[in-house]
Amino acid sequence: MSRFLNSRHEKLEAYVPGEQPQNQKYIKLNTNENPFPPAPDVIAAIEEESKRLNLYSDPECNVFLNPFASYLGLQRNQVFAGNGSDEVLAIIFQSLCEERVAFADITYGFYKVYAELYGLNAEIIPLRSDLTIDPTDYYNLNCTIVIANPNAPTGTTLKKEEIRGICENNNSLIVIDEAYIDFTNESVIELLKEYSNLLVVGTFSKSRSLAGARLGYAASNSEIIKDMNKIKFSINPYNVNRMTLAAAAASLKDNDYYEECIKTIVANREYLKEELKKYGFSTLDSKANFIFTKHERVKGQTIYLKLKEKGILVRWFSGERIKDYLRISIGTRDDICKLIEGIKEILEEEI
Ligand SMILES: *Cc1c(COP(=O)(O)O)cnc(C)c1O
Repeated sequence: MSRFLNSRHEKLEAYVPGEQPQNQKYIKLNTNENPFPPAPDVIAAIEEESKRLNLYSDPECNVFLNPFASYLGLQRNQVFAGNGSDEVLAIIFQSLCEERVAFADITYGFYKVYAELYGLNAEIIPLRSDLTIDPTDYYNLNCTIVIANPNAPTGTTLKKEEIRGICENNNSLIVIDEAYIDFTNESVIELLKEYSNLLVVGTFSKSRSLAGARLGYAASNSEIIKDMNKIKFSINPYNVNRMTLAAAAASLKDNDYYEECIKTIVANREYLKEELKKYGFSTLDSKANFIFTKHERVKGQTIYLKLKEKGILVRWFSGERIKDYLRISIGTRDDICKLIEGIKEILEEEI
């Protein structure tokens, strides 16, 4: 640490992203990326737009946000774009929270980091013993609430009606992080009509194969979006680059392609779950593009390390309640077969 770091950040523990090896050595099942490339038209749109990189990007993000608002059935002033949903969440934590913010003990790791970074007290709500969320735990909390739905790394979901209950039983802001929503049919975007305290966040990183382009969004009522723009225009008005805006706009025209990819991923998820069951794993009921699973005898960390030696990356978390588990992103059928082979070998050595 240099002597110049603001003392407020002395104890800050930064977010630790999943490993991103910059070679092709690994089968990457550790950061919930989509195993399929972006649609061909998206790649063409990026190439075309790259010719205009000498010019700043549109701070209003209109090429993307105009069609995206219609796509979601919302008004143009109800949507916001960010450099990944991580940036969108950062803006929310720094501008739409006051003193305290509530979220689950086991959820997306960035919430805790942002709470610390922006000087908020985290109100930690433990998951039930089966690692699901009890919606009534979030009633009448009197502070901003952030819930990932489906939750990560567990993959379990709250039903639309359960989120409705949370909105009704709070005056404070309810942020629903729908990073994995396209793998389910439980989006609460339509509840925006009914609740003025609801803010939905999402990303093109998972279902739309654009993790490397960095595009996240927020959808809410126009007042909240206006507040978020005030902060964005005070930090980085050109927050989304030209190529990403063009890519995202093009991807909206290619829904059939993404729906096919999603179908394949869901089928692969169920296949992997069934296979793992045969070898003594129990897996939570994930609706996302990953599963959270544990073996009856062999430690999660052991399997993680041995898979890595075999060139397969999955995610392991050291937290007390989840240290027996592995989070495995759903790859292609070929990735999954190699993973199962690797796991079979490891179990033969360990048991
Ligand atoms: C992946 C993920 C994000 C971040 O997505 P980016 O748009 O790539 O920044 C946010 N929330 C959850 C729950 C995620 O899993």
